[in-house]
Amino acid sequence: MKRLTVLSGKGGTGKTSVSAAFGYLSRSRAVLCDCDVDASNLALAVGAKNIQSGEFSGGSTAVINADLCTGCRKCFEVCRFDAIKNQGETFKVESMACEGCAYCAWVCPADAITMVERKSGDIFSAQTRFGSAVVYAELTTGAENSGKLSTQVRRMADDIAEKNGAEIIIIDGPPGVSCPAIAAATGVDYILFVAEPTLSGISDLQRGMEMAQKLAIPAGIIVNRSDINEEMTAHIKELAQKAGVDFWGAIPFSHDFVSAIRNGRTIMEETTDSRITSVLEQTWQSLLTRIESKK
Ligand code: SF4
Ligand code: SF4
Repeated sequence: MKRLTVLSGKGGTGKTSVSAAFGYLSRSRAVLCDCDVDASNLALAVGAKNIQSGEFSGGSTAVINADLCTGCRKCFEVCRFDAIKNQGETFKVESMACEGCAYCAWVCPADAITMVERKSGDIFSAQTRFGSAVVYAELTTGAENSGKLSTQVRRMADDIAEKNGAEIIIIDGPPGVSCPAIAAATGVDYILFVAEPTLSGISDLQRGMEMAQKLAIPAGIIVNRSDINEEMTAHIKELAQKAGVDFWGAIPFSHDFVSAIRNGRTIMEETTDSRITSVLEQTWQSLLTRIESKK
């Protein structure tokens, strides 16, 4: 079983649209996995149904037992995150501010503080409109995206793919090159960058390519909205050649991407523009061959 991660420098470049299009083209041979847990919307594009959910605990928070607390203030004094508040002799932890370091529990002379697991998100598995499975997650408001939830989503996608005998897992990664993006890309067979032909898009892309190189994972590029700046698109192609990464093609600008998301469809179902469908079809076929040939 192979794994492909689709990444981009920032949100809104068409990463999820490309992932959903590949999911549509591969039908039940793929499992789709949305690791963009801050802005999960792959499931909307592929029409998730028969949804099952579970909670994810990615950290802990301190809780003070008021019956045991003697009001000595030690916890208040050591908390560097200003998470412990008091009203007179009564001390409480503000769970949103608590970083779970457990220092307060360690210094409390009355054993009044315990560390409890904190829910940091929900994980969902579902069926797509075209017969594959999709796994996605939503971070609890205020919870930090450290990459742990992405890792958990990937584990669930792996289990489902194994059970279904799927050939490939298509991972829609989070934007950027921070911990969550690395968690979505580590150990996969291929990284595809969806890039925009702008100066900031090129600089994002260069950081992404450096990350792929450090992870020793083969990578390629597809440019979205290529016709907003043909020169920059040509420049990206040159960069790809120099860096030894694949250049798969260029998708022209189209309002159909926005309407596809609004209508809960993939771009393959939404558009009648054959320039878009053919570049995505060709890219998907060539990518599969490329990934299959990876030693
Ligand atoms: S666990 Fe750490 S961050 Fe949380 S209240 Fe205690 S000392 Fe502060
Ligand atoms: S360290 Fe323990 S006993 Fe002292 S104020 Fe904090 S919770 Fe209460």
